[in-house]
Amino acid sequence: MSISTSVLSDLLKSHPHLRSQLYFKASLTALSHAMEDQVLAANLNQPLIIASFQKERFYRQEAHRYQRLAEKSHQIYVLSAPETDFANSSEYYEKIAFEPDDALTQEWHLVVVADNYATCLVCRESLGSLSKNKHIPEMIPSVDMDTARRFEGIWTSEKGVCLRAAQLLLERIQVYRPDLVKKVAEVKQRLGIGESINKVGVNSRHEYACDLDTDPFVQRLVTYLQASQYKLHKAYRSIADQARKERLVNSISTAIRRSLDPQEILQVAAQELGKHLEACRCLIYRAQATDAKAIIEHEFLNSHVTSVLGQSWELEHNPLFQQVLKQLEGVCVADTLADHDVKKSSALSSIVKQFGVRSWLIEPVLYQGRLLGIVELHYCYFPPHEWQAGELDLVKAIATHIGAALIQAESFANLEELNKQLEALDRTRSNLIAITGHELRTPLSTIQVCLESLATEPDMPWELQQVMLSTALSDSERMRKLVQDFLTLSNLESGRVEWHPESLAIQECIDLALSRLRTRSSQEKIPQIKTNIPQTLPLVRADGDWLVEVIAKLVDNACKFTPSAGEITIQAITNGQEMLEVTVSDTGRGIEPNRLEIVFDRFYQEEGALRRTTGGTGLGLAICRQIVNGWEGKIWADSTGKDKGSQFHFTIPIVNN
Ligand code: ADP
Repeated sequence: MSISTSVLSDLLKSHPHLRSQLYFKASLTALSHAMEDQVLAANLNQPLIIASFQKERFYRQEAHRYQRLAEKSHQIYVLSAPETDFANSSEYYEKIAFEPDDALTQEWHLVVVADNYATCLVCRESLGSLSKNKHIPEMIPSVDMDTARRFEGIWTSEKGVCLRAAQLLLERIQVYRPDLVKKVAEVKQRLGIGESINKVGVNSRHEYACDLDTDPFVQRLVTYLQASQYKLHKAYRSIADQARKERLVNSISTAIRRSLDPQEILQVAAQELGKHLEACRCLIYRAQATDAKAIIEHEFLNSHVTSVLGQSWELEHNPLFQQVLKQLEGVCVADTLADHDVKKSSALSSIVKQFGVRSWLIEPVLYQGRLLGIVELHYCYFPPHEWQAGELDLVKAIATHIGAALIQAESFANLEELNKQLEALDRTRSNLIAITGHELRTPLSTIQVCLESLATEPDMPWELQQVMLSTALSDSERMRKLVQDFLTLSNLESGRVEWHPESLAIQECIDLALSRLRTRSSQEKIPQIKTNIPQTLPLVRADGDWLVEVIAKLVDNACKFTPSAGEITIQAITNGQEMLEVTVSDTGRGIEPNRLEIVFDRFYQEEGALRRTTGGTGLGLAICRQIVNGWEGKIWADSTGKDKGSQFHFTIPIVNN
């Protein structure tokens, strides 16, 4: 029984002058409501009302209106495809349930015809109207998919058209409800529906049956239009706000992501946020939950207010900060002059007074629940600033970005430090391999040859045996020194050394170093050593063992590289208020100007590792530099050139009284 012909198509066929128009569902709803309201407001005599709904659920939304309309007429016909309850019936008005595949499921009709009044809305849903308009709901979050559906059709008060539409629908009604034949015939006759087209259709082609006061209709329509306009306006405003917020968050997050320097990140964030929110001040400072105070490190400043940069902010006795900590959420004070917490706290009152803060926002910068810092916004003018939800969301979003950026920067710094340590470790490892290759293998093979000869040739002359033994012994001593120096340097470089700073007289340390030297070199002839230490020198603060080690190594080098006829001088002077400078000078072979710095490199030896004559390890000066760095002193070498002697200087902190 289902009918596949479209009412709209039939109507357009019989009235070819009609041009269909496009309607959004929202407009059709507004028009239909206005038409129904017009009937409710006017005094029409038993008007014919035919409404066709695509689905039962659409009908249900309007059912209450039709009950009210039923009080105005007995000639009301409501058509719909049934879903749950809708069925043919004749209670308040006639209900006609059409087949689910009837062409009416695609159409929307409302026809009102009375003696001197006619208006009709005959439309069909555009195919694919939902998919074509998919972008609309994304653009306008508050406008739902349903409202964006599109229809094409006719809305007119042209009498001939309305009568024809009524006729087409009444024919359809009779197919589904043959029991209504009489009732339909009665209304058709009364209103002249279905009379010859010549009489009604063509002659009355441009006749408009509307001698009714249309004011309420127009008023109503305007109200609907205004309402949808307002909704649209709101939707666009919210899109614009959203877009503005996204642009700002993006620009700030790009700016802060460009850097891995925490200071730069905080400065950029303060500037951008303050500028965009037109704040008088935007402050960002680092703070941890346990901090008693914080120093304001970064500030965006509006030109008319005083800077608070460098100020110390109370945190421990600051009720707003404590509240932020407790709830891990931002706190917003609309008007400081009326706020109870601010008035009660002397710290806050004094800030408000001194810096004129009228409206105050304190937002925590958190990372996984850990407080990293605070973002503050100040507005200093009257009237107090009215915080908008959008602004608060924005500050929160930026604070989240700052938190992530800070953690990223921190991890990067840790990674860099770790990389440095790894590089150092790698260098140490390569050096160890180099030593094993060049330094340890040579004495080891000498020792091995000597000992093997002693073991396999018992008849070896006694003198030769002695030579073999002493060679093996001196080479094993060289290996011991090398391994010991290498371990010392590794420990110093990796920070595995414990320092025991004490107050020391430099003269005593020099004496100790010299006595150590003399016991070692009692057989060798060494240059004369002079000391020049004024008695008035202040005490120094350093680890005594390491200080003696530095002096001993420098004097040992001076002895190694100075002929026995030469001279070595140790002197000490004060270098500024904080440091004492010790100098070990010799009259020996000197150092080329371009070598003055690289002598402190590990394994640097002028002769090259394999042609060493002086028996050193090439690690002595590297060890000295590590030790002196340990007490934050400096060590450097001077020399006027080859054979012109060298001076090694280093500084030690003076004891502060
Ligand atoms: P080494 O064990 O070889 O002495 P150092 O690190 O103490 O190792 O010294 C590195 C190099 O610096 C020496 O091999 C030498 O070439 C140069 N040097 C150190 N002290 C002096 C000095 N007083 N006069 C000239 N050259 C020196």
